[in-house]
Amino acid sequence: MSQLNTSAPEAERTQGVDFLRARINQDNATGRFDSRVHTRFPPEPNGYLHIGHAKSICINFGLAQEYNGKCNLRFDDTNPVKEDTEYVESIQQDVKWLGFQWEGDVHYASDYFDQLYEYAEKLIMMGKAYVDELNAEQIREYRGTLTKPGIPSPWRDRPAEESLDLFRRMKAGEFEDGKYVLRAKIDMASPNIVMRDPTIYRIRHASHHRTGDKWCIYPMYDFTHCLSDSIEGITHSICTLEFDNNRELYDWVLDTLDVYRSQQIEFARLNLTYTVLSKRKLIQLVKEGYVRGWDDPRMPTICGLRRRGYTPESIRDFCSRIGIARAADSKVHYSLLEFCCREHLNAVTPRCMAVLDPIKVVITDYPEDKVEEFEQPLHPEDESFGSRKVPFCRELWIDRDDFREDPPKKYFRLAPGVEVRLRYAYYITCQEVIKDENGNIVELHCTHDPASRGGSSPDGRKVKGTIHWVSARHAVPTEVRLYEQMFSTESDSEIEEGKTFLDYFNKDSEQIVTAMAEPYLATMPAGSHVQFERVGYFCADPDGSAEHPVFNRTVTLKDSWAKIEKKG
Ligand code: ATP
Ligand code: MG
Repeated sequence: MSQLNTSAPEAERTQGVDFLRARINQDNATGRFDSRVHTRFPPEPNGYLHIGHAKSICINFGLAQEYNGKCNLRFDDTNPVKEDTEYVESIQQDVKWLGFQWEGDVHYASDYFDQLYEYAEKLIMMGKAYVDELNAEQIREYRGTLTKPGIPSPWRDRPAEESLDLFRRMKAGEFEDGKYVLRAKIDMASPNIVMRDPTIYRIRHASHHRTGDKWCIYPMYDFTHCLSDSIEGITHSICTLEFDNNRELYDWVLDTLDVYRSQQIEFARLNLTYTVLSKRKLIQLVKEGYVRGWDDPRMPTICGLRRRGYTPESIRDFCSRIGIARAADSKVHYSLLEFCCREHLNAVTPRCMAVLDPIKVVITDYPEDKVEEFEQPLHPEDESFGSRKVPFCRELWIDRDDFREDPPKKYFRLAPGVEVRLRYAYYITCQEVIKDENGNIVELHCTHDPASRGGSSPDGRKVKGTIHWVSARHAVPTEVRLYEQMFSTESDSEIEEGKTFLDYFNKDSEQIVTAMAEPYLATMPAGSHVQFERVGYFCADPDGSAEHPVFNRTVTLKDSWAKIEKKG
């Protein structure tokens, strides 16, 4: 795992803690926030949460827990066009599922619209904001570049009373979208382009999912976020690195209005290989039908991971292993997430048998109408899982891959004349291979040793292979969805010119097979985790039922990436 970025670089660590904890410890030592720790998780309700958000959730809620502090859940809902209550609900569900509870009620930036409006008027009266008539394109042109200072708008020095009058009329709905904006009056020559008179209010005649048609002007992120933090008494406002340049504006707004000052701190956003972590792209995959929905088991969304069979524990473990770095975006290999998942599922899942690529075995010396039941533990080490009865009869299914007519060296599974153990049941020996007219194997005729009942050796004789099986008479045909990585590219940087990420969508990322499952599996409710012995970890899908079970493959038993990388 040496290639993985699993921890913060040494330089960012102080006395064994990451830079965030170091900052908080320092603030607590100086009594800066009266030793309070109050964080927030501020999603915009314009999509479902993904694993990158889980990192932010674990940081914000985790710090609050660790320091006996508080963490708010606040919806950053200032863009009425893209936001929806469907997202508001799913986000709350996902945060809770991950195992966290926010402080008090859910907060919404839109709760503060009245207060934010008052602050905007105050800035105008202080001569620190003005109503501009340049359109979006002109504003961009006037803004200048990294090497060229900006040019002041002709309306920059409009008298405060005039701006105030226009701003009130903007609010009253007198103007169409884009006619005017309110801009902070800061510094058009600032080396930090964010500070060149940023727009803080714009006209948007759109219904808001909470405030309805009350407003037709909406505050911008940079104005809203810092003031929301201030209103809620947030101490450490932790955000991702792309807001580094915005911190100066964050501080400017709070200092200029002379209100309580929260501290913005940035950390590196999570990037995961072979997937995308951008709501815009994820929405596209959903809307254009590449996947089954936001909760498609291939999606890196929290609900997708849940449906796939990931557990909250495994996701939290992953977030703690990747650590927190301040510098450089961290790209983490998907295999680390799978590793964490296997670790947890190994401890918490019952074991059952299912055959994914079935081939019939007939035990020719076993009576036709006889049925035996083997009572078997559901977990090899943990008795608390209990047991289930596994029926056995003359005809069985085994996995096609567990038989070779011409076995290579060191192949210890079934082959002509070879004896293997059927897990829990009997030793069998393959006597005859039955083929159809095209030469395809259709049945294997075997004999069994009744003295090996239960799978134990009758006379100390050893068999090298143990294979899993399902009684043909009792088998439940089961839809099994096998999932692979969603993209063939490791990251965006590999996308060729003229192509988009969609060109790299892996069309084989979902394969459906009909497996033969032991009856116990059909009794498992949706969301149940299980290990198909020797095959992998699976999770019962809500599309399934007792009559038609559906299981998603969460993860294989072994790391399959090593192979892929080599092929690569
Ligand atoms: P996206 O780019 O997917 O649209 P976003 O940053 O716009 O994400 P928000 O809803 O604004 O999404 O994010 C809520 C919080 O989650 C923010 O504090 C944001 O910084 C954090 N966050 C979003 N994506 C990641 C990521 N990949 N890694 C870590 N934190 C993230
Ligand atoms: Mg955002």
